[in-house]
Amino acid sequence: MEFNISFEICSLSFLCILIIFYKKKGKNLYLTDKVYEIFLFFALFDIAINLISVVTIAHAVWVPLWLNYVINTLYFVLQSFLPAILTLYIALMIRKIETCHIIMLSIPACISCVLALSGPITRFYFYFNQNLEYVKGFGQFFLYINGIYCGCIALYLSIKYRKKLGSVLFYTAISITFINVCGLLLQYLLPKHFVTGTSVVLSLLIIYLSLQNPDIYIDSLTRTLNRHTFVVKLDEIQERKKKLPLLIVSLNNFKLINQIFGVMNGDYILKLVAGYLMELTNDQSVYRISGDIFVITLLSEQEAENLCQKVLLRFTQPWKLQETMQASVSACLCRYDIHCGKETDEEIMKTIDSAVLEAKKHAKGQIYHVKPNALQVFYRKAAIEEALSACIRNRSFEVHYQPIYSTKEKRYTTLEALARLCVPEVGYVSPDEFILIAEQNGMVIPVGLLVVEEVCRFINRANLPVYGFESVEINVSVIQCMQEDFAQEIFDILKRNTIPPSYINFELTETAAVLSEEMLIQNMKKLMEAGVGFSMDDYGSGYSTINYLTALPFSVIKLDKTMVWSYFKNQEARIIMGKTVEMLKMLNFRIVAEGVETSEQAKTLAAMGIDFLQGYFYSAPVPEPAFITILKK
Ligand code: C2E
Ligand code: CA
Ligand code: CA
Repeated sequence: MEFNISFEICSLSFLCILIIFYKKKGKNLYLTDKVYEIFLFFALFDIAINLISVVTIAHAVWVPLWLNYVINTLYFVLQSFLPAILTLYIALMIRKIETCHIIMLSIPACISCVLALSGPITRFYFYFNQNLEYVKGFGQFFLYINGIYCGCIALYLSIKYRKKLGSVLFYTAISITFINVCGLLLQYLLPKHFVTGTSVVLSLLIIYLSLQNPDIYIDSLTRTLNRHTFVVKLDEIQERKKKLPLLIVSLNNFKLINQIFGVMNGDYILKLVAGYLMELTNDQSVYRISGDIFVITLLSEQEAENLCQKVLLRFTQPWKLQETMQASVSACLCRYDIHCGKETDEEIMKTIDSAVLEAKKHAKGQIYHVKPNALQVFYRKAAIEEALSACIRNRSFEVHYQPIYSTKEKRYTTLEALARLCVPEVGYVSPDEFILIAEQNGMVIPVGLLVVEEVCRFINRANLPVYGFESVEINVSVIQCMQEDFAQEIFDILKRNTIPPSYINFELTETAAVLSEEMLIQNMKKLMEAGVGFSMDDYGSGYSTINYLTALPFSVIKLDKTMVWSYFKNQEARIIMGKTVEMLKMLNFRIVAEGVETSEQAKTLAAMGIDFLQGYFYSAPVPEPAFITILKK
C-alpha cells in the first residue's frame, strides 16, 4: 500500500521546534505542565514510530519480521494512549479531574494497549501475510472509536465547566477536541494520507500559544513568575482549600529610585532583588505581581519567620549597581496568610495592594501583619479618606454644636464645635475614627482649618455674642498645632471672618505623638498672646500627666467623661476625682465636666464647684438649625 507521509514529516519538524522552545524557556510548575510535556514526547514518538513503520512496512523483505512487529506494535500502544492524555490535559485545565475520569479514560486505553501487545497472536490491529505484506486488522476501527470516545469526554467536561474555564481555556479546549476528532474522521475517510499526527501537533501548538508559553507566566524583566501565574496559583489552592502563608516584599519610593538612578538602573535593582529572593527560596515561589511588589509563597509559619528576618536584614545593606555605584533601597514586608475559600482572588489581590500601602505608611523597617478582616477595614478606610478629600475639594466641613452650661451663671456661656463626616454607603462616621485617619494621612491639617472656618462663619450667622455666648470651643489636633504656619493660618481665618481671637478656645488632647513640643509651644504662645484660649481635653483618660498640665499654657481643663462616670460608680474614683478637682482649682484652672447625662450628676458636679457642665443631659451635639432653636428657647 502506498502512503502519503508528507503531513507527518512536516508535523514532526514542527513538533521538534516546539519541544526545543518549550524545554528552553519553560519551567514545570504545575501538573498541567508535566502532562503537557508527556504529551509532547508521546506525540514525538508516535509520529516518529509511524514514519519508521511506513519505511519498514515498505521494505518488509529486508527488515526482520520480528522488528516490523515490534515497531508496529509500539505504534499502536502509543496510539492507544494519545487521546486519553489529551483529554486528561483538558480535565486538568478545568482542575476537575476525578478518579472516575481517570478510570473512564484509562480502561479503553489499557484494553487497546493489551490488544496491541497481543497482536502477533490476535492479529487485532495488523499482521504480515505470507508475502510479508502488511494487512490491517479489523481492530483499527477500535482506535477511531476510542479517539471519538475521549473527544466526547473532553467536550462534555469543557461544556459542563465552561464558566470555570473562562473564555480562553474554553475555546482552547473546544478547538483542540474539534481538531482531533476531525483528524480522526479525515484519517478514516482517507486511509492513505497520514493526518492524525498533524491534528495532534496542531493541538499542542494551540495549547502552547494559549496556555503553556512561558512568556505567559514568567515576568520578562525579572524572570520571576508573574501576576497571571500568581492568580492561577490562587485558583489552585482555593480548590484544595489550603492555607497559604505569603511574604510580600515591596520596595519603598521606587519612583524616586527611578528618578535618581534612571529607569535602567531601576530595572536592574528589581532584577537584583528578584534574583536575591529567588536564591533565598526557590524560583518557583517568587512572583512579581506589580511594579515593585514581589510575593513569595511559603510552606510554613516557621519558614515565614526565618525568611522575614533574612530579607529585612538584606535590605539594610546597599545593592551594587556598578563598580562605583550603590543604591540603598528600603523595603516594606507584609505577612499575610490566605485562608482559602474565604476570600476571592480579587479580594486577595486587593488585600495585598492595600496591605502594602498600609505597611509603607506605618510599618517602616518592621513586618506588617495583615489581619483576617483586613479588606473590610481597608475599604472602610478608603471610603473615609475619599469622603475627607471630597470635603477638602469642596472646601466645606459639617460641624455640630453642643452647648456648655455654666454652673455659676446658670446658663449656657460657651459651646463645643464637633466635626461630622457622612461617608457615602457607610453613613456617619465617628470623629474618633476619621480624625485618626486624617491624622495618619495628613488631611487633618486642611480639615482642621475648614472646621475653624466653618465655626467662624457660624458665629456670625447665628450672632452668638447676642445670646451671651462668651467663647466657642474648637477641637484641634496636636499634629495641626505642630505645623509651622498654624498660628498664622488661624489669624487669617479670624481676620477674614472678623472674629476676635478671644472668642476662640482650642481644645487639645495630650497624645504620645508630640514630635516637636517646641513648635507646639511656640504656636500656642503666639495664639495666646493674641487672646486665643486653650483647653486641655480628655483629662483623666489615660495620657494626661501633671507635666503636660504645667508645661503648656492651658486655662481650662476638661475632665474626661469616663472619669466623670466612674465618680458615680465607685469609691476610689470618687476620691481621685475629688482630689483632682481640688488640685486643679488650686492651680486656678477652670474645670469642665464632660458626659453629664442625668440631673443628679449635674447637681453633684455643680456642688463640687465644677465651673462648666457638658453632656446629653443638656443637649447632644446638634446641627446648626437645632442649635439655633436651643438659643431661642
Ligand atoms: P471630645 O472632644 O471629647 O468631644 C466630646 C465627645 O463626647 C463628642 O463625641 C460628644 O458627642 C460626646 N459627648 C458629649 N456629651 C456626651 C454625653 O453626655 N454622653 C456621651 N456618651 N457622649 C457625650 P464625638 O462628637 O463623637 O467626638 C469624638 C472626638 O472626636 C472628640 O472628643 C474630639 O476628640 C474629636 N473631634 C471632634 N471634632 C473634632 C475636630 O473638629 N477636630 C479634631 N481634631 N478632633 C475632633
Ligand atoms: Ca473636645
Ligand atoms: Ca473630651
